[in-house]
Amino acid sequence: MKDVGEEMAHQLRNRNWVKNYKELIDDAFADEEVKDFVKENQLSQAELARSASKVYEFVSIKRQIKNGEVTPAPGYQPQLILSNHLIDVAYVPSEELMKSQKQAEIRARVRTLNMPKAIRTAQLADFDITGREEIAQAAADFIDTYTANPQKFIQGMYLQGSFGVGKTYLLGAIANGLAEEGFRSTMLHFPSFAVEVKGAIGSNNVIGKIDSIKKAPVLMLDDIGADQLSSWLRDDVLGIILQYRMQEELPTFFSSNLSLQDLLEQYLTVNNRGEAEPLKARRIMERIVFLSKEYTMIGRNRRHS
Ligand code: ADP
Ligand code: MG
Repeated sequence: MKDVGEEMAHQLRNRNWVKNYKELIDDAFADEEVKDFVKENQLSQAELARSASKVYEFVSIKRQIKNGEVTPAPGYQPQLILSNHLIDVAYVPSEELMKSQKQAEIRARVRTLNMPKAIRTAQLADFDITGREEIAQAAADFIDTYTANPQKFIQGMYLQGSFGVGKTYLLGAIANGLAEEGFRSTMLHFPSFAVEVKGAIGSNNVIGKIDSIKKAPVLMLDDIGADQLSSWLRDDVLGIILQYRMQEELPTFFSSNLSLQDLLEQYLTVNNRGEAEPLKARRIMERIVFLSKEYTMIGRNRRHS
C-alpha cells in the first residue's frame, strides 16, 4: 500500500493550497468523528496542530469513499488512531474487502482443469432437488461426513444421467461446499485431461501430471466415458490414478452419461483400436465401484433453457 499520508502532504504542499490551508484544516477538524476523537483523547493544541495533516488525510479519504471515488488504497477504510500523542490514520480492510478475500480463499481450494466457469458459483442450496432428493441428500451427507473426519474413507458418487441434467453442477456444488469447510478438491474434465496427458508424452511430463491428480484429497473426474480410450490411457493413466486412490482411500467422484454397466462394456472394454480387453476393463471397474456409489440423476436438460 502507498503511504497515503505522504501523498496527502505532498498535495497540500504542491497545489498551492497554502493559502487555503487553514480553511481546509478547520474543515477537517469540524468532522464529527474527528471532534469525538479529539474530545475522547484530550489532545493539546500543540498536538492537534502537529496532527493536522493526518486529520486532513482522514477526512479526505472518507469523502472520497463516500463519493465513490477510487482511493489510494481501494477496499481499505481509514480509521483514526493515537500514536505517540499524535493522531494517525490506520487503514483497515472494509467488510466488503474481507468478504471478497474470504471468497477468494474458498475458491482457491477448488482446483479445476478444463471445467466450465459456471461451477465456481454452484451451490448445493441452489440444486433443484425435485425427483433427486436421494442424490442431494447423499451429496450433503458426504460433505458432513468428510468434514467430521477427513481421514476416514468415504465413498464418493458415480453420477450417471443424460446430458444437461446437472451432474457437473452438482460436483461443483460439492467441491464448493467442501471448500467452505476448508477442504481442497480437484475437478477435471476427463476427456480434456486425457488429451493433455497424451500431449505431454513428448515432454516427459506425464508422471508429474498424473501424480498431481492422483494425490488430490478429493478428486472429481467429470464426463468420463465421453471419449475413446486407448489401452494406455485406460491402464497407465486412469488405472494408475484409481489404483492409488483405492490404496490411499481417497474420496473420488465421477460423472458420466453412461451407467456403470455401459461404462464397462462400451468404454472400458473396447479400446480405440476396437480390441476387446474385458479383464483389464474389469480391473478398472472394480476400482470405480470401490471408490464410488452409483446414482442415476434424472431431470430436464438445463442447457439453453
Ligand atoms: P451435465 O453435467 O449433467 O451435462 P450440467 O451440470 O452441465 O449438466 O448442467 C447443465 C446446465 O444447467 C449448466 O449450464 C449448469 O450451470 C446449469 N445448472 C444445472 N443445475 C443447476 C442448478 N441447480 N441451478 C442452476 N443452474 C444449474
Ligand atoms: Mg457435465
